[in-house]
Amino acid sequence: MSADLSKFAELGLAPALLDAIADTGYTTPTPIQAKAIPLVLEGGDLLAAAQTGTGKTAGFTLPLLQRLTELHNDRPQPGKPRCLIITPTRELAAQIAESVKTYGTHLPLKSFVVFGGVNINPQRMAMRKPVDILIATPGRLLDLVGQNIVNLSRVDILVLDEADRMLDMGFIHDIKKVLKLLPKKRQSLLFSATFSEDIRKLAHGLLNNPGEVSVTPRNTASELVEQVVHLVDKSRKRQLLSTLIKQHNWSQVLVFTKTKHGANRLAEQLGKDGIQSMAIHGNKSQAARTKALAQFKNGSLQVLVATDIAARGIDIEDLPNVVNYELPHVSEDYVHRIGRTGRAGASGQAVSLVNIDELKLLKGIERLIGRAIPKVEIEGFTGHTESPGETVVKRKPRPPRNGPPRNNSGASQGGPPKKRQPRRRRAS
Ligand code: AMP
Repeated sequence: MSADLSKFAELGLAPALLDAIADTGYTTPTPIQAKAIPLVLEGGDLLAAAQTGTGKTAGFTLPLLQRLTELHNDRPQPGKPRCLIITPTRELAAQIAESVKTYGTHLPLKSFVVFGGVNINPQRMAMRKPVDILIATPGRLLDLVGQNIVNLSRVDILVLDEADRMLDMGFIHDIKKVLKLLPKKRQSLLFSATFSEDIRKLAHGLLNNPGEVSVTPRNTASELVEQVVHLVDKSRKRQLLSTLIKQHNWSQVLVFTKTKHGANRLAEQLGKDGIQSMAIHGNKSQAARTKALAQFKNGSLQVLVATDIAARGIDIEDLPNVVNYELPHVSEDYVHRIGRTGRAGASGQAVSLVNIDELKLLKGIERLIGRAIPKVEIEGFTGHTESPGETVVKRKPRPPRNGPPRNNSGASQGGPPKKRQPRRRRAS
């Protein structure tokens, strides 16, 4: 060991793991590692809020490898893992499997990864060999259990990784089935990027007096932001947006689209409706972006259409209106989008135009922010987008408001614009 790994050693990690860490070149534990490793080594359950990119994989893999070596030394058995790591996607499963191999390189533990979308037979064959650690996606795991290839009665340690995403992807029933097959006495670790009420419920039934660590602030979709969803047919979105902007005299609107092409098209169409708008995204030159931003800030440009990535460079934080023309695929992006408004005590409004294909994304967002967003249907703009069991308020289009347009531009606020915290996107 050449590098100074004293900070990792202080967490209680054994020499075999410190050697593996030395091979990776890490010198300092990340915050999630510093908090989670001692807790897991002590054998306690863990509820951790951490996103991909925080070093969470090593945060659970390093101590669980050590626990498995310490727990008991009976030989690994075919199809009967002592540690089960469940993760929502095959990419994550493969990444975790890599990490287990990397950090366990000086240990005699056997690991294997199974996921769906590929032929099950090689996985069946492989499970005939002894295994200590099984990394799996929920569906394929249950297939293998159903075929008596995998038996979960010997699991000492369970890890649920990206639990929020598993719920978003509809894996809750699979997870519950798996939990029933595990021994009651075990160590359980639950990782989630966010703690919605559903995650807390799941954690409550799963964890025993868990230690809690968090390296992301608890989700705080600003209470000051008035959020509303307009259910609308996809083909009527542009027209509804134009109507809303005109009706309410919105003076400064940031509109989010999913794609660059979509941003361009929308800005063009709004222009044809007599609404001044420009698109900014990665394909625009820096000069064009700067010009659009400057005009938006000084109030001469009414609508700025942006993709999530382009919007990150915009330093206006007190916008009166944010519109989700399309919902983002990653629920956290919704929170970041609407966080553009309602800052510093100002009230703001976030309007989402949602068509039937986006209802699942909407559910994911509502789960993340821990509440339902009111649905208001504007007469004449929707056909059959209602989701079953939803309360939808129906509203006739209102006559335009005549009051003066709000001017809340960052440029006219005085004082330097507040800097946003850098954030990480979740991989895969
Ligand atoms: P994760 O959040 O587990 O996906 O990890 C994100 C990245 O951080 C991975 O590429 C890891 O290899 C890297 N990483 C994990 N722990 C450390 C550390 N202590 N120092 C530097 N990089 C790390």
